[in-house]
This record gives sequence, structure tokens and C-alpha cells, in this order.
Amino acid sequence: HKLANFETLEFKNVRFQYGGVGPYVLDDVSFTLNKGEQLALVGTTGSGKSTIIRIMSKTYMDYEGSILLNGIELSSIPKDAMLHLFSLMQQDVFLFEQNIHFNISLGADEISDDAVVDAAQYVYAHDFILGLPGQYQFELKNSGSNLSAGQAQLISFARSVAQGGQVMMLDEATSSVDSVTENLIQKAIGRLFAEKTVIAIAHRLSTIRHSDQILVLNQGKIVERGNHQEL
Ligand code: ATP
Ligand code: MG
Repeated sequence: HKLANFETLEFKNVRFQYGGVGPYVLDDVSFTLNKGEQLALVGTTGSGKSTIIRIMSKTYMDYEGSILLNGIELSSIPKDAMLHLFSLMQQDVFLFEQNIHFNISLGADEISDDAVVDAAQYVYAHDFILGLPGQYQFELKNSGSNLSAGQAQLISFARSVAQGGQVMMLDEATSSVDSVTENLIQKAIGRLFAEKTVIAIAHRLSTIRHSDQILVLNQGKIVERGNHQEL
């Protein structure tokens, strides 16, 4: 039985060690994310930001404390009953040696051609795609070496939107992009933040500014929390 809609996610005093040994990479982490809200995770490298998203992707299940999804303990929810609620935009964009259309739809039959174009339009990727030879049939070379880093990110955004998750988990890339594409990415993030529930690992000030709630992590602990005005 699938969870139909995302309502709320609650971390309560969560502690986590990779493999059950070594230091706690999450230590007493608590927060609540409700439908329609945006949460930004910031902090130094290695502070545990991506680990939070990995746990939500059910990559690791051996956490201590409680993680409640719509009030149900995450460890008791089968992976295929919940993953449709979440769309993950990874830090390192993964592209297939296939055309743009495939890279957005991932070959899913239920994603129509119109839905692919809608997703690309939603994240402001459509116009640059129309400028490519073959447009949506443009074939990507190994890991997208024939796209710019920013264009690859926009394809990754479009893919997440097309997958239709109700909660966007965005592990923001740090790669530098040209200013035109940076503008498009800012607009896409602005739109996602205005209309979706988002957990974002944020490097851009604009991402942080648009969040309802900012958590500052250091060595697995939340050392500050608040909104942009408060911090
Ligand atoms: P960055 O900003 O560099 O992406 P981060 O805040 O996302 O950092 P995490 O990837 O969550 O950090 O890592 C938190 C800690 O867990 C780090 O000390 C890291 O070395 C460790 N870690 C991450 N992945 C693993 C793993 N698969 N096995 C063991 N330790 C890991
Ligand atoms: Mg990370």
C-alpha cells in the first residue's frame, strides 16, 4: 500500500553512524518539514548534509532516534511504498549516453512527450534545448561532455520534475556555471521553492534566502537554525 501524499517529515533526535561504527555523522538531529515548506541544509564539508538525503532515499536504515513520514516510522515503510513521494537532484549530475528526451524521462513509458517538454519548460531548460541540433533528440556524449555544467544541471532539474515527486531533494552542485545559465538555474530554483516542498543542500545565497527554515550543521550537529533574517 503506497503512501498517497506527502504531509509531514519529522526527524526526532536522529543519530547515525555509517556501518554502525565510528563517529556519529548525524548527532541528535531534529526538525520538522511540512507540505509546502522549504528546508535548507548548510554547513561545512563533511557535516552530514548529504547523509540526511541518503537516509531519506532509504540507502541506509540503521539510524537511532525516530524519523516519521506522515507519522509512520521510516524504517517500517517499504522502499517502493514511499520513493514516489521524493525526487532527488544529486550533487553530481548523472547523464546517460542517450538523447535529451531519455535523460529527462529515464525511459519511463508513463512520462509522455508532452510531459518531458512541460518539465523542461518548468525549469527554463526548453529554450536552450531548442537551440541544440536535433533538440530533444540531441545525443549526449559520455557524462554530458557536450553540454555545459549548468545545462547538465537544468536537465537534472527537468528529470526530477518529470519524475513527479511531491518533495524535491536538491543536493545543489558547486560547479561554476556561466552567468546566463546561472540565471536560469536561479529562476528554476525560485519556481521550485515557490511551488513545491523542498529539502535543499544549499550553496547559493538565493536558495538559502528562499527557505522557510535553515539548519546549520557542524560535525553532524545542528548548531544554528532559523530563517534568513534570523541568522
Ligand atoms: P559536502 O558538503 O562535502 O557534500 P556533507 O555535509 O554532504 O559534505 P556527508 O556526505 O553527509 O557530508 O558526510 C558526513 C560524514 O560522513 C563525513 O565525515 C564523511 O566522510 C562520512 N561519510 C560519508 N559517506 C560515507 C560512507 N559511505 N561511509 C563512511 N563514511 C561516510
Ligand atoms: Mg554532500
